[in-house]
Amino acid sequence: MNQSFFKFTLGFLLALTPSLCYGFEIVYPKSNNVTINSDKTFFIGGVKENDSQTLFINEQKVPIYKTGAFKYIVNLEEGENKFVISDNIQTQIYTIYRPKFNSAPIPAAEYEIFDSPTIISTNTDDALLRNSPSEDSWARLGTISKDTKLKVLGQYGQYYKIQLAQDDYAWILKKFTQKTSDQEMIGTKILSYTYSETKNKRIYKLKLNQKTPYIINQNHGYDIVLYNMEDFEYGRYEFHINSEPVPFGYKVFYNSDNELNIEVKKFPKTDSNQNLKNIKITIDPGHGGEEYGAIGCLGEKEKDLNLEISNKLKNELVKQGATVFITRETDTDLGLYERVKFTNKNDSDLFISIHSNALPDTLANVDKKGTEVYYFYPDSKNFAKHILESIVKNTKTENSGIHKQSFAVIRNHQCPCVLVEVGYIINPEDEEKLINQDFQQNVAKSIVEGVKNYLNDVQ
Ligand SMILES: [Zn+2]
Repeated sequence: MNQSFFKFTLGFLLALTPSLCYGFEIVYPKSNNVTINSDKTFFIGGVKENDSQTLFINEQKVPIYKTGAFKYIVNLEEGENKFVISDNIQTQIYTIYRPKFNSAPIPAAEYEIFDSPTIISTNTDDALLRNSPSEDSWARLGTISKDTKLKVLGQYGQYYKIQLAQDDYAWILKKFTQKTSDQEMIGTKILSYTYSETKNKRIYKLKLNQKTPYIINQNHGYDIVLYNMEDFEYGRYEFHINSEPVPFGYKVFYNSDNELNIEVKKFPKTDSNQNLKNIKITIDPGHGGEEYGAIGCLGEKEKDLNLEISNKLKNELVKQGATVFITRETDTDLGLYERVKFTNKNDSDLFISIHSNALPDTLANVDKKGTEVYYFYPDSKNFAKHILESIVKNTKTENSGIHKQSFAVIRNHQCPCVLVEVGYIINPEDEEKLINQDFQQNVAKSIVEGVKNYLNDVQ
């Protein structure tokens, strides 16, 4: 009883305190005692009544934008840095620690070569092959199916080094493998080959005597490289799929009797009236629920802006006759791989993820602003280019380019995928646009135009 009364009183006092005291709010750094490993960082936030406010950081006057937002860059010395932020009524002190440069080399793990190779098999359908024993997402080569036999040459930390073919090697996390009693490695043979077509797909089927590892390269069409192949030079067989007619994503999988299925999507049939009647598009508002994404100078959350823009985009696409799927319609949590699964379950022709940008702690350019569009596979590059061009042309945001990046939601090869960073929510100039409903509407219309231009271009 006493305790709950105490909690109530304390809660009541705490609820009152901030609004009485502070005329300004710091959004970043996230707390007043942080470690940032960089020679520069920035303060962003907002003031409550901007016309009468004068804000100082270490006695330097901070410019305040007309929305009340501010952004201020500071230098960091090694060790402790103190910043006094004051509006002449209240003062907040921030301590930022910059770690001292440490030149001691990181001890390297030992690579151990086995006396003789051993045979293992994969224990999952999503066993990742990597080109180096590293977690880096750029090291991904592809996934292989469950119960594929692999020849292990040695180990390095959590990884096995495997030999795929005469001159081809890869790495795999040990947790994706299991011991197998069958220690004989036989070569893979192609038993038969068939080709067929449906309205939406080209289907290639290679019947093999066993499951064999493969990887797929996108390069003017697709190269499916099969390893451990008996009748081919260096033990590798490259199956090439032409870029004419334009492929629109692919799916590769084994069916139950060791038959490798390669399904290549055809370009979706568009209507001659320029509308998007036969096009299925998944829109993905970034973040959601507990995951706020970035926070703007004025305290608004990225997840909310992403959803507002996405809903406007949905309406515009529907007006053009497109079939639209949206990964979240409300403020809910949703995992990255769930978003990819959702896209593929709906057999989407295109995928667009909507985000608002921030900067990493170790920032390269604190004054960054503008629109960026990300893609991963070469198939999606032209899509990214058209979306960016259209947004920049119509909304006059700064052109911050298209970039290849290994984000999970766009690392999906089943359809062209882009991730749009509409603007920098932590840059007061971009922020003013992002919170404006007319601007959001303009972005939505521009993306529709970009989709149309892209489809016309590839057709
Ligand atoms: Zn984001």
